[in-house]
Amino acid sequence: MSDCAAQDTIVVGAGPVGLTLALVLLRAGHSVTVLEKRDSVNLQSKASTFHASTLDLLETLDVLGPMRAKGVQVDHVQYRAPDGEVLAQLDFDLLKDVARNPFRLHYEQGDLTTVLADLFVREGGVLTFGQGVQTVRQDADGVTVTCDDGSEHAASFAFGCDGAASAVREALRIGYVEKPYPGMVLRLYANRDMRVQFPDLGGISYLHAGDDTCSLLEMPDCWRVVVRVPAGVSAAEAVMDEWITERLENLLPIKDILRDVTGRDVYSARRRGALSAGGARVFLAGDALHLTNTKGGMNLNAGLHDAFALGHAATTALRSGGSASLERAATERARVARDVLIPRTDENIGTGMDRVKRIATLSQSPDKAAVFLAKQAMFDMLDGIPAAVIRGEVSHG
Ligand SMILES: Cc1cc2nc3c(=O)[nH]c(=O)nc-3n(C[C@H](O)[C@H](O)[C@H](O)COP(=O)(O)OP(=O)(O)OC[C@H]3O[C@@H](n4cnc5c(N)ncnc54)[C@H](O)[C@@H]3O)c2cc1C
Repeated sequence: MSDCAAQDTIVVGAGPVGLTLALVLLRAGHSVTVLEKRDSVNLQSKASTFHASTLDLLETLDVLGPMRAKGVQVDHVQYRAPDGEVLAQLDFDLLKDVARNPFRLHYEQGDLTTVLADLFVREGGVLTFGQGVQTVRQDADGVTVTCDDGSEHAASFAFGCDGAASAVREALRIGYVEKPYPGMVLRLYANRDMRVQFPDLGGISYLHAGDDTCSLLEMPDCWRVVVRVPAGVSAAEAVMDEWITERLENLLPIKDILRDVTGRDVYSARRRGALSAGGARVFLAGDALHLTNTKGGMNLNAGLHDAFALGHAATTALRSGGSASLERAATERARVARDVLIPRTDENIGTGMDRVKRIATLSQSPDKAAVFLAKQAMFDMLDGIPAAVIRGEVSHG
């Protein structure tokens, strides 16, 4: 038996995707319970890049103000040689015909999660920590989830936004296709003003030494230096001073960078697409549905797009009593992940000087540069979201 009266919706997971979906649902007038396994929201440093397509959507939720107040607005992307030569520069302002916010924002994922959680609770949403969902049962009328403390929660629809190891996906017995990327990625957090050495350095810059590359990202409190760790090098080795010094030797012309490094970590990446985004009464979004590499910063952005698509489809479903709109939106989001997101991020890591030369050539043509930037800002990955929402004509305020 359920421990509480049936809600319209249950969202499993209070990550950025689950909370965005929960806020869209709440603002549309639906009752929402968010069940989160952890004791508080996750503040671990993960995503930092928010693209124009996502910023336009988040603006309709009124969260762009706090994001811009704390984040770094990035107005162009640069491809540079290690000696400082600018090989190509593309201005995000070229997106102004398609974007209401034609820039990229560097901002901590954990800060967005906190802002969303605060708004959701302040506006009457139910957010319960310490509730790890274990099982999911659905029938023609609704869904019941059971948590690890034995409590049961019933709703018309439920959404698995519970990350890569999704218990909801497991409970639905949905498999996935997965392929790891070789090697790992090293992140350094450098408390150093890179513009002392490169006064015109873009907030996102890729340094290219032949086919090797390293990314520099300006964050509110540091610069992040991101570099690939080849297969065969262990995580323990990759965080050692000696290995880092040698790895950056030909890429980063700042020889004493380690003096200002206040943090370092190593992570691995995998591409993964769930075989289905769910159906009937339970649907998946975010990392529960797709994973990919972090080059270009796209996976969370795609997850936030999932949240807007499912949130609006749920309103139609709750009004009609049927789940056809949700099935359509979920199928579209799984297709976007498989056919657009993962190939695009694969293309981004397949760097090399040939690609940089192509980008340098297209940067000379504003029309071609705008098309390239719109793809990097994921404007062609919004399928499943109603056009009026994309155009900003539907307020979630
Ligand atoms: C180093 C790094 C850098 C990245 N950079 C970027 C970037 O710049 N741009 C970008 O777009 N993406 C980036 N990503 C990817 C991004 O971090 C993820 O896509 C994002 O975390 C997905 O959000 P989510 O809400 O789907 O899942 P999560 O953030 O994993 O949240 C899931 C939530 O569900 C909870 N949960 C899990 N199981 C249960 C359960 N059984 N019951 C209840 N709750 C549960 C978890 O505790 C968690 O709070 C990066 C990832 C990493 C690792």
